Amino acid sequence: MDKLLGLLADGQFHSGEELGEQLGVSRAAVWKKLKAVEELGLALDSVRGKGYRIGSGIELLDHKKIERCIDADVRTQSEVHTCFITDSTNELVSALGPVPAGITRFCLAEHQTKGRGRRGREWSSPFGSTVSLSALWQSGEGTASLEGLSLAVGLGVVKALETLGARALALKWPNDVLWQGKKLCGVLLEVHGDPTGECEVVIGIGINVRLSDEQLASIGQPAVDLFRVCGRTVSRNALAGQLINTLTHLLDGFGQGGFKLFREQWCEYDAFRGKEVTLMASTRSVTGRYMGVDDQGGLLLETASGLHVFNGGEVSLRQS
Ligand code: ATP
Repeated sequence: MDKLLGLLADGQFHSGEELGEQLGVSRAAVWKKLKAVEELGLALDSVRGKGYRIGSGIELLDHKKIERCIDADVRTQSEVHTCFITDSTNELVSALGPVPAGITRFCLAEHQTKGRGRRGREWSSPFGSTVSLSALWQSGEGTASLEGLSLAVGLGVVKALETLGARALALKWPNDVLWQGKKLCGVLLEVHGDPTGECEVVIGIGINVRLSDEQLASIGQPAVDLFRVCGRTVSRNALAGQLINTLTHLLDGFGQGGFKLFREQWCEYDAFRGKEVTLMASTRSVTGRYMGVDDQGGLLLETASGLHVFNGGEVSLRQS
């Protein structure tokens, strides 16, 4: 399949005969594989006398191209894996076994069949349309020291996207990246280990690069992709490399100074400051004026009974 997709990725027509020759299989086998391509959700054009193509073309993940975009100092402290299809890159990054000390592992996939958001919600990542990246990072400082990391990661994503030309991005606490109120990127952190000692965190990032109108409309909230934000195609491999650079530097900084180091910059992108909002937990909700975030990344909410701080991944923010 990956070889066939490699041939179709250029957006040009390829005849069944040519594909069969290149893949070393029969026409019937090509036809079966083309059906499987369509089942991945890719729009395949088929024209009699011309052959088959993926209309808009597709940039597949390419390990070598990603490596070329990674800074020399980052290369020495990271390992990068790419795969075709996986349940979830957050699971894959841990399933690959222990990571050598001082190394951050990054995993990317063309498609996640069970991409996850917070509290069991689904994350949609149609084949070849997103950058779905997970990082596995180890710390000896304990899970308690990771407070605010998810916000810092959201800021890192914004910085990486700006390097590639995106503008007018905003952050929604704790870490969604928005453009004109629509969701461009989601982040999911999963922390394991000792509250005061060795621990590890899996950082999952999903960024929409290029989705069809139908794919965007099928998402349960207003969503957007980088193609619409930038008005041009953004390379998935360049974005992957840039994210790896930015995250590696950010994790270094976070390890030394925590969220405090990033708070001021984070606030520059805050989508909700000063607005009336509702915070929703599983069984209750509270409304008040959103007053920004504290040094640990906690949300500050002013209500009739005073200023309250909300932490943790179980709270959702909505504009009232
Ligand atoms: P929060 O609880 O912080 O308000 P959320 O409702 O956006 O966040 P998340 O857990 O961050 O929830 O992400 C999952 C949600 O994101 C899904 O329920 C869906 O609404 C939306 N979503 C799923 N896939 C995508 C995508 N590719 N692009 C944008 N949004 C998506």
